[in-house]
Amino acid sequence: MKKVLITGAAGFLGSHLCDRFIKESFHVIGMDNLITGDLKNIEHLFKLSNFEFYNHDVSKFVHVPGELDYILHFASPASPIDYLKIPIQTLKVGSLGTHNLLGLAKEKNARILIASTSEVYGDPLVHPQNEDYYGNVNTIGPRGVYDEAKRFQESITMAYHTYHGIETRIVRIFNTYGPRMRLNDGRVVPAFIGQSLRGEDLTIFGDGSQTRSFCYVDDLVEGIYRLLFSDYVYPVNIGNPDEISIKDFAKEIIELTGTDQKVVYKPLPKNDPLQRQPDITRAKEIIGWEPVVPRREGMKKTLEYFKSFSKEDLNKREHKDFSSYSQS
Ligand code: UDP
Repeated sequence: MKKVLITGAAGFLGSHLCDRFIKESFHVIGMDNLITGDLKNIEHLFKLSNFEFYNHDVSKFVHVPGELDYILHFASPASPIDYLKIPIQTLKVGSLGTHNLLGLAKEKNARILIASTSEVYGDPLVHPQNEDYYGNVNTIGPRGVYDEAKRFQESITMAYHTYHGIETRIVRIFNTYGPRMRLNDGRVVPAFIGQSLRGEDLTIFGDGSQTRSFCYVDDLVEGIYRLLFSDYVYPVNIGNPDEISIKDFAKEIIELTGTDQKVVYKPLPKNDPLQRQPDITRAKEIIGWEPVVPRREGMKKTLEYFKSFSKEDLNKREHKDFSSYSQS
């Protein structure tokens, strides 16, 4: 049985990856320090003999006994509000954490895939974004802690590949959604769905003309799985090119939830990218991948997930006032 270490295992993407690798009959070691992750996302795996969980912060030395075949580094806060709340941890997990995991990969002779992001393109001046675009990031802006950690992560990963001959893979993940997102992490999908379910107005930041392109989590997992087993070492965008403005997205959510919520406008947060759409030509060519789940279908499944929350859970707020963030 091949062994895979998945960091960020209790998070949104990490937990779906654990499920996929269990389904493919791997021995899965999940690792998470539970700062933004939630054990509920993986509790169904604890009874399995081919699943282990380590509560550990990967920005500290990482030890895993025995052999290891693959490492997937998915530990990181992933929401702009989180970066503001825990900026140093965000920097450390992307930089020191990646360094530790590359060291582990070298020690174990394991192949490592690291989760990079469309944020390496910053507020992009090229549209759609292909992998050759160098990006437009404000190093000292509120998002800089995440964006620059991920950019450093790509650099050190390529350096380990070049100088130590480590087998590395880099996926640049665009906005992804689905069940197990944190209801109150401040990102637009859970924010709008949560607001609709609570009967509140939907908060649009800026005039809502900024765009995003949302990929359903199952599509993303399939792309990552294929990339890991490909022999391609350069970054590959994985995302859904179906672009929509935030204003139209709010309308879609209102329609989907069948509520008659209004929208309210708040200031656009500093350095909030005005447009984002992946160019997935490379993914199509190299791994024969493209998304297959339409947004409406994926959003329905996501809505079903959030509908299962108790009233009490729906009303629990980590970030009570988004407007303080939107003015940052
Ligand atoms: N956004 C919004 N209202 C919200 C939360 C987010 O209008 O309640 C906007 C945000 O300003 C951004 C887009 O939705 O333009 C996507 O934000 P998210 O935090 O989901 O991810 P990002 O792609 O910015 O990292």
